[in-house]
Amino acid sequence: MAAFRSWVEISLKQIAANYQAIRDVVGPGVEVMPVVKADAYRHGAIEVSHTLASVGARWLAVSNVEEGVILRENGITARILVMADFLPDERAGLLDYNLTPVIHALPDIAEWDRLAAKKGISAPYHLKIDSGMGRLGTRAPASEILEAIGAENHAKLEGLMTHLASSANYATSQTEEQMRTFETLCARLAQSGVHPPFLHLASSTPVAYGRRDAWKRMVRPGHAIYGYISPVAKGTAPAPLIQVRPALAWKAAVLAVKDLPAGALVGYGGIYRAPQPMRIAVLAAGYADGIPHRLSNKGRVIAKGQFAPIIGAVSMDLTTIDVTNCSPVEVGDSVTLLGSEGGISIDAQQMARVAGTISYSVLCGIHARVKRIYVDPLV
Ligand SMILES: *Cc1c(COP(=O)(O)O)cnc(C)c1O
Repeated sequence: MAAFRSWVEISLKQIAANYQAIRDVVGPGVEVMPVVKADAYRHGAIEVSHTLASVGARWLAVSNVEEGVILRENGITARILVMADFLPDERAGLLDYNLTPVIHALPDIAEWDRLAAKKGISAPYHLKIDSGMGRLGTRAPASEILEAIGAENHAKLEGLMTHLASSANYATSQTEEQMRTFETLCARLAQSGVHPPFLHLASSTPVAYGRRDAWKRMVRPGHAIYGYISPVAKGTAPAPLIQVRPALAWKAAVLAVKDLPAGALVGYGGIYRAPQPMRIAVLAAGYADGIPHRLSNKGRVIAKGQFAPIIGAVSMDLTTIDVTNCSPVEVGDSVTLLGSEGGISIDAQQMARVAGTISYSVLCGIHARVKRIYVDPLV
């Protein structure tokens, strides 16, 4: 009997195994900083962070100050890098909670220096270079960066980083161009005696496909920690170096089962009409739980170990499936939205393809009201 309307089952052991797979492939000279932003891609940032710390992760990356504070308040002592900037009012919080900011604009270095001076402490930061992604990061020339760094007393440049826009696309030269821009800049800074301990550029994809020249002293995998390697968008990549597996299965309870006559319409807009007498099941999860609305009349779930098509529109709290050809489904049974059952499986990449989105968005879209269950608590 399903105990919840909809829930995810998460294996922390699998997350630890995925981390270890990455650890093994990059070798001991490279720090692995798992990305636990967006509540660890919805796997639960606190539990995931404790797990990763317990298997050796010394660094974790989040997007914002609030995410870092939650980890600190829950006993995480690893270094925490706040990657996607901070609002002016949040700067003091960074120091109060021992969070390390990524700075994206040179004037913020002086500001960070002032804050650290006020506290009388040395405050590390990483500087992000916009090497061609055109999002966050400074595009200032080396001379201006040197000037900003030269003026600091308490702020301490600990890392130089950049983010690659098209690392899964092997048909474009954007990655090589970004890497050249970044490396040229790092070399200029090095000539002037600036040697921060960490240079880092690689998210999951450059790790998985073995772009070793992007590994430097630190890598920042997110997706691969949760068991996914992005498919190559274009061109041909070398075979992946790591084997990772999804750590999350998503289930929903069956609220109702009923028979419909031929010609009956199903759900909002009547976009599905039963071509013959059929049996449907109504699931206790909808787009408010994170099932993409674009799966209306398109997606499928696993019921009793068999694929069952989604029919009609996905509603806010309900989704209707065709169970005519499944073994008898009863009220209170559970079905699998993501995961394996009876030897067949659906993963976030498959769901995303059908919904016209990306696996990241499917995982991050799993709503907070979906109950989280840890199937093999590690810590
Ligand atoms: C999210 C993020 C990552 C992790 O990316 P994955 O593709 O999930 O591995 C790494 N670096 C930065 C700057 C990010 O924002």
